[in-house]
Order: sequence, then structure tokens, then C-alpha cells
Amino acid sequence: MTTAYIAKNISEVRQQIHNHCAQYQRNATNVTLLAVSKTKPAALLRAAYDTGQRDFGENYLQESLDKQKELSDLAIIWHFIGPIQSNKTRAIAENFQWVHSVDRLKIARRLSEQRPEDMPPLNICLQVNISREESKSGVAPETLPELAKEIAALPNLTLRGLMAIPAPAETLAEQRKPLAELQKALTALQKDYPQLDTLSMGMSGDLEAAIAEGSTMVRIGTAIFGARDYAPTI
Ligand SMILES: *Cc1c(COP(=O)(O)O)cnc(C)c1O
Repeated sequence: MTTAYIAKNISEVRQQIHNHCAQYQRNATNVTLLAVSKTKPAALLRAAYDTGQRDFGENYLQESLDKQKELSDLAIIWHFIGPIQSNKTRAIAENFQWVHSVDRLKIARRLSEQRPEDMPPLNICLQVNISREESKSGVAPETLPELAKEIAALPNLTLRGLMAIPAPAETLAEQRKPLAELQKALTALQKDYPQLDTLSMGMSGDLEAAIAEGSTMVRIGTAIFGARDYAPTI
């Protein structure tokens, strides 16, 4: 029952990605679906995995480490997408392949220093406060080039691109504006760093806007796993 529910949701999300790509003349193979599984039990991640899903996004370190242990028989690619405290960087560097939420040099330095030598470089997206919300995490757009320069030079990280969580907006046109800004910021950085290939943007509520504006990785939680009914604080 639960497995069928997850399978149906994933197949609908994949269909939507496919349809929006066709609509905006994009190649659907350039859009990776990241299943955002925060607060959801390991059994639901396993159900998603069984449909072919490989990339999973998690926000809470301890919760994610518990699930990683339970799912250690699966070839999951783990993405950390939540706020990062500096005392958590070692466990993140040791247990994830991607981090989408880097917005400070100090955190990036620690991730690079603490990345185990026998693992490939950690893939990094810089989180940008694209809607310029005072309370939100993310680097200010004007500080982005400087931060990118310092982080691109760190040995055990691979800078892949940009991530944003824009302020909620009602209409497609309003949703597209900040996402277009993020795409512009990536294009500007690509002049100096042509290897940047990732725009991590688009959630359950703004999937179409994100694909219209060039997203290469959409982070979908609710549309796959259903509404979240609790929010652990760790
Ligand atoms: C929770 C979360 C998502 C998924 O949001 P949904 O609206 O449930 O699809 C995406 N990105 C980040 C950073 C999140 O924290």
C-alpha cells in the first residue's frame, strides 16, 4: 500500500518533469530528481529506491545518519540540504556525496579539511539568498563571486553550482523571477568556472517555474512522500 503510494507519486513527479521539459524545450535527462526525505522513515526511502530513485536529500544530520545505517545495503547518493552548524561538518563530510547549503567560507573550509582522503571530493552548491530575505540563510548575491573564488580553491571540494529557496510566491511569473536571478548568477560564475553544471532549485510548489528557468536538480519532498507531520529539531 505505502509502496504503491510512493511509486505512484514518483511516477507522477517524473511525468511532470518530462512534460515541463517538453514545454520549455529542455532535455529531461538534464534534470535530476532529488527526493527530499526529511522526517520520513527509512521504509519510505526504500520504497522510492525500488522505483529507481537514487538521489535523496536530507536536512537533519542525526536523523539522516540513522536512516543511512538502516539503508546501507542500497546504493543511495546522499545530499545534505539543511542548515549547517560547524560542529556537524565532520559527520557531513564523512557521510554525504553532496552538500547544497554552503553559504560561509568557514563551513566550506571545515568540510574540505574533514573530507576523508579515500573519498572523492565533496560536491558543493552555494546557497544564495536570492529573495534577499533577512531571516533566510544563503550568501548575498553581491558576495557570491568572492565566496565562490575562495571555495573553488579548496582541495577536497568540487564546486558544482548554486542552490536557492526563494520566498513563496503565488503565480508562475512571480515564482520565475528569483529563479531567473539564480540562473543569471550561475551564468556569470561560469565565465570563470566553466565546470559549474548545477542549478539546485524547484520544490513541490514551484517545479514548473524551476524547469522553465533552467533547474538541473529539483528537490521534491511533499509531492513524493506526502505532507510532513513532524519536524525534529536536530
Ligand atoms: C524540505 C525541503 C525541500 C522539499 O520541499 P517540498 O515543498 O516538500 O517539496 C526542498 N529543499 C529544501 C532545502 C528543503 O528543506
